Amino acid sequence: MAIKWLIDASYFVAAILFILGLKGMSSPVSARKGIVWAGVGMVLATVVTFLTPGMNNFALMVIAIALGGAVAWISGKKVAMTDMPQMVAIYNGMGGGAAAAIAAVEFARGEMHGTVVTLLATLGALIGAVSFSGSVVAWAKLQGVMKKAFRLPAQNAVNILLALVTVAVGGAIVIAPTVDPLLVGAFFVLALLLGVIITLPIGGADMPVVISLFNAFTGLAVGFEGFVMGIPALIIAGIVVGAAGTLLTQLMAKAMNRPISNILFVPMAAAGGGEAVEGEQKEVGAMDAAALMRYASKVIIVPGYGMAVAGAQHKVWEMTELLEEAGVEVVFAIHPVAGRMPGHMNVLLAEAGVPYDKIFDLEEINGDFAQADVALVIGANDVVNPSARTDKSSPIYGMPILNADMAQNVIVVKRGKGTGYSGIENALFYKDNTRLLYGSAQQAIGEVIQHVKALSV
Ligand code: NDP
Repeated sequence: MAIKWLIDASYFVAAILFILGLKGMSSPVSARKGIVWAGVGMVLATVVTFLTPGMNNFALMVIAIALGGAVAWISGKKVAMTDMPQMVAIYNGMGGGAAAAIAAVEFARGEMHGTVVTLLATLGALIGAVSFSGSVVAWAKLQGVMKKAFRLPAQNAVNILLALVTVAVGGAIVIAPTVDPLLVGAFFVLALLLGVIITLPIGGADMPVVISLFNAFTGLAVGFEGFVMGIPALIIAGIVVGAAGTLLTQLMAKAMNRPISNILFVPMAAAGGGEAVEGEQKEVGAMDAAALMRYASKVIIVPGYGMAVAGAQHKVWEMTELLEEAGVEVVFAIHPVAGRMPGHMNVLLAEAGVPYDKIFDLEEINGDFAQADVALVIGANDVVNPSARTDKSSPIYGMPILNADMAQNVIVVKRGKGTGYSGIENALFYKDNTRLLYGSAQQAIGEVIQHVKALSV
């Protein structure tokens, strides 16, 4: 009795820690603390599982925890910032797979037929299995192991047919009087196939949205299995992850102006395309770029994927501090899909020590570009491409962009004539008020720093 009370109380505390953790993660200021809260909750929930009456596979449990912990620790330490999306995809898939595995074990026990619990277990198994196999495909694509996008003839019809058959087999499991291993086996094969078939045609910038969607699925699946096993912490954790994943999916889809139904059923326009851009790119040297910014009143910095690749965030912050010492107001404008994962730029700038009150989201800052003397675009391309506003043939048409082109002067740091993720030309680079500072971001900003220093003595 006392043990039961202790277990329930611990699960309750763990659930509160998950919620506090998520709350903390909603702001860069408290994100580290949030991760610690959630981690403590997870440790508590794991430890208390060992106390569950009737539990006996302790050795297997310890081996599984040690193996999983070691793999996560090593991969977490080694992963490059640019490989984060595929890491999130694969870890998320593991959660869905675990939920499906719980359902499989409950089916194998065969004790719950004809009950609501069977229905919940089946739903959790379906969603978890789809999330697992879909996330593995997403990982393979982002890792470059698999061709980017692969579309079957009549893809949407195949998706719908397969989904209907899988649901029908799931329904048969729920109403069957006894466990039929063949039916259960077929159900899991179909559900796993469904995850693969849904994800195969998805590519490009739709990928992170899909990963976020699978994350929401995993949360739901875990929540359902929490009901099956009667563990409140699992239910709450599942619901929290499901809700957070759903919100993130909606936010990202909105930031790219792609309804979720389009992401799943309408392939993104192929890379490239869009109207041809005429004109010439005009170069600027580090000295002139430094002078333009040193004597400006307001500079808005737009970081993008190139800053991440070059690891230039520390240099960018060093330059910002020098400009501020010279009396220039410098702020950062962050596009929601800049870089290659949600919050990519925020993480890098926070790592370099940029205070959060200098970092602004698209909606907050877009009205300020017209008053800026200089917009400094560092390794960003698609997120400042004005054709998203006007060119209907462009793959990024309709995506809200940062209005860098409206600043009095635009300086773009990039290595050459490389296009961005969408593979299209950028009219911003050819505008009269735009100058290109060629070079890798770290080296180019390093040179600007030397000139700002020279101008300030
Ligand atoms: P882009 O991918 O559009 O552009 C990056 C630019 O950086 C290129 O033009 C490249 O030009 C330049 N660059 C590359 N390396 C360097 C370097 N070492 N130094 C300086 N410049 C460099 O980046 P954005 O951030 O503007 O846009 C993100 C894109 O990625 C969007 O299309 C978004 O939809 C997509 N996406 C976003 C995800 C997310 O969750 N944030 C996930 C997946 C895709 P050059 O080669 O000439 O140097």
